[in-house]
Amino acid sequence: MPDKRPDWLKVKFRSDPNFEEVEKMLDRLSLNTVCAEANCPNRMECYSRRTATFMILGRICTRNCTFCDVTKGQVQPVDPEEPLNVARAVGELNLNHVVITSVTRDDLPDGGAGHFAQVIEKIKEINESIVVEVLIPDFMGSISALSEVVAAKPKIVNHNVETVPRLYPGVRPMASYRRSLDLLQNVKNLDSRMFTKSGIMLGLGEKKEEVVEVLRDLRKVKCDFITIGQYLSPSKNHHPVVEYIHPDTFEEYKEIAVNMGFRYAASAPLVRSSYHADEVSKLLDS
Ligand code: SF4
Repeated sequence: MPDKRPDWLKVKFRSDPNFEEVEKMLDRLSLNTVCAEANCPNRMECYSRRTATFMILGRICTRNCTFCDVTKGQVQPVDPEEPLNVARAVGELNLNHVVITSVTRDDLPDGGAGHFAQVIEKIKEINESIVVEVLIPDFMGSISALSEVVAAKPKIVNHNVETVPRLYPGVRPMASYRRSLDLLQNVKNLDSRMFTKSGIMLGLGEKKEEVVEVLRDLRKVKCDFITIGQYLSPSKNHHPVVEYIHPDTFEEYKEIAVNMGFRYAASAPLVRSSYHADEVSKLLDS
């Protein structure tokens, strides 16, 4: 475990009235965000920019990724009001680009895909032009579940591969690297015009050539957008940080990704899969 966090990972952010307002609204509408559940270092900034990544299907996950701060255990019933409440929040925040994610619900027959579709539809009822990005679980590889989400026509389907295949047993034990790549390919098979996005964390013990290989694999399944950020351990009980990667190295990966044909690559220590997600908006009509 490296010593203390380097300066480039220190977040200097002053809270502002928007932050409290967003927190109150989320509470009033009984909504969860991955921002809060995963203790994201950018939460202050994003809430103050009046944006958030809504986490649907409860706060409890059926999986046990060792890097993740989301609670694991006995899952909660799905809230039938959630699609409408998310849409209300999107309206109140006047969002042009919204990211919807979820815990993994392997306990549900469709993994929660139908609920994702309802959330997308409710948001589009408010305003058809809102960019809806869904950051989805792997639905255990179910094509019928994935088809339900794709049929609801989000603009971007995001699914993180999170790390390099060699590290999966220790980082994402219930996931499969191949299954995640196949999901991204299947989105394109179902709708070739739909944008896909993925993300990877660094600092878990991966080698440079392994990261480049993951970028190559993602381009093979026609992934359009990539996010690359530094892993930060939520606690001593989570996967340790093996290395703090220098910002220059992130710049190198960004260049490699762009040269490989990614239409957008965000690569820096504090980048997260939905951080400044709206920056791709200008690419979506081209
Ligand atoms: S599946 Fe997602 S929410 Fe569940 S533990 Fe893994 S990263 Fe966290």
